[in-house]
Amino acid sequence: MTIASLPKSIATVSISGTLAEKMEAAAAIGFDGVEIFENDLLTFEGTPKDIRHLAENLGLVITCFQPFREFEAMPEPQRARNMDRAERKFDVMQQLGAELLLVCSNVSPAAINDDARATADLLEMAERAHKRGLRVGFEALAWGRNINTWRHAWEIVQDADHPALGLIVDSFHTLALGDDIARLGVVPPDKIFFAQIADAPKLSMDLLSWSRHFRNFPGQGGLPVADFVRDLIGAGYRGPLSLEIFNDEFRSAPARLMARDGLRSLLLVEADAGATTLPAIPGFDGIEFVEFAVDQHTGRRLSETLRCLGFHYAGRHKSKSVDLFRQGRINMILNSEQDSAAAEHFQFHGPSVCAMAFRVDNAAQAIKRAEALLCSPWQEPVGPGERQIPAVRAPDGTLLYLVEDSPDGSTIYDADFNLFAEPVMDSLLTSIDYIAQALPTGRMDSFVLFYRALFGLMPDRLWQIPDTMGLIQSRTMASAGREIRLALNISESRETTTGRFLTASSGAGVQHIAMATTDIVRVMEQLTARGARFLPIPGNYYEDIEARWGLDAERLDELRSHNILYDRDDAGEFLHAYTDPFDDRFFFEILQRIDDYDQYGEANASIRMAAQAKRRGSSTKFELLV
Ligand code: MG
Repeated sequence: MTIASLPKSIATVSISGTLAEKMEAAAAIGFDGVEIFENDLLTFEGTPKDIRHLAENLGLVITCFQPFREFEAMPEPQRARNMDRAERKFDVMQQLGAELLLVCSNVSPAAINDDARATADLLEMAERAHKRGLRVGFEALAWGRNINTWRHAWEIVQDADHPALGLIVDSFHTLALGDDIARLGVVPPDKIFFAQIADAPKLSMDLLSWSRHFRNFPGQGGLPVADFVRDLIGAGYRGPLSLEIFNDEFRSAPARLMARDGLRSLLLVEADAGATTLPAIPGFDGIEFVEFAVDQHTGRRLSETLRCLGFHYAGRHKSKSVDLFRQGRINMILNSEQDSAAAEHFQFHGPSVCAMAFRVDNAAQAIKRAEALLCSPWQEPVGPGERQIPAVRAPDGTLLYLVEDSPDGSTIYDADFNLFAEPVMDSLLTSIDYIAQALPTGRMDSFVLFYRALFGLMPDRLWQIPDTMGLIQSRTMASAGREIRLALNISESRETTTGRFLTASSGAGVQHIAMATTDIVRVMEQLTARGARFLPIPGNYYEDIEARWGLDAERLDELRSHNILYDRDDAGEFLHAYTDPFDDRFFFEILQRIDDYDQYGEANASIRMAAQAKRRGSSTKFELLV
């Protein structure tokens, strides 16, 4: 059932800054309203009326004032005091211009387990609110003392039967208990006063800590939030979808960044719920090219590295200082053009990947989807006769081009490059298998949402990889047909391979590029003969895999002599090797997937990182000696 998009709201607790900054960020990104969290009001310098005026000026509705805790079914004298407390909140709400109060179910050990008492208290509160033209919404907390499910909260609201009392549902509180709202249709739509939306990664910990620190935006966690929204809309709810996210990392990130992620997540979940439609996710056909920002000097050295890896010099740009290297379906572009996006990238980051391109079946549609999900297209200035390639910027600033086959069969290189004759030799490497990116601390969720929303890449499980100098968290994402695969890495420590990359490159970016072959042993022989330098793997590793996998002596010798790592699962085998890093920054991986092996050799990642650390140590010593 496609409906008009629901209004979008965000609780001020979800983002960083002062109350005014939070509201300005929400309005700038395009939210329709905000839930005012009481703590944000208490720390605000002005009056509630000032906030009302700010909201009016920003065009924001104050969708809800929250929370009101420890209310229902308290013994006297707390009960009488609670009614006085409610009257004071109503005073504030009237000044704020907030019409709805969120009351969450009581967690106090003093709360009496008596539904009749709870009903009577909420009825009295609703009657008092009603006299002032206000309303009360009752929300079941998953850890509520006596009331912890939406059904139970609804029974109380139904028994009270007052026009100013309704139900508030919250996806976290429902889904965290393994519950759902499939039967929410029993509640008349006008009694569902408000809906709060949050996702969370699947973690085993107490509900309160899980909720207060690890909630995240829909599409970033593991809860079935789209099903929740589908049931909510199916039950006739047409009020706001309001994000209520308690997350320590979100509250320390820039407010607008988080607000954009938040609104993007709501637009996505609404479409995933079938309520609205977004331009379709494109079909993919792998990675078309990777573009490096270089200067003349590093460009020469990187060209040499690529030649050693079997690439041939395939073309020179007609008007710019841009070179094309190619083998199989892999295109590497080296851009040293002055006054370009690449030059700017080089100034900030040094030699590094500044762009990559996905081959898609419909670039225009992919750009429309990106725009619908709050990502504006990027346009690089082009010369006369050059082809304009649609692009968007990833959250780390890397340009993502979308390349589509041309109807006349010409390639993007034909118009812009003077192409040289192809060599007769066979390609050793066939295609780019995956690209690994190092992300800044705290930004994994943001990148996951970006790739999932815009391109439909789905996250696999999170890996914790022990580096010699700290822990790295790694999450791979892939398109449905595995044509595009990315690995996202994050590290708290500055000394891990990921941490060092972020320091060396002044920020996030592509850390390694994995290229596929169908015969790794032959390819390693030939690349080594061409002068490629690979990461030495310690002998103990081979003794370990011999014991673990029972490999025969000949196979083991082949692997050992070429520094090839090995993994296996029920679906097949995986063989891979790594080059030495380029300027202690990015490096290349050569890999072979056998049968249906679909992982990334994660089991070997710590071996690789230890070998890289050892290599760095020895090169440092060497530098000291000379
Ligand atoms: Mg809530």
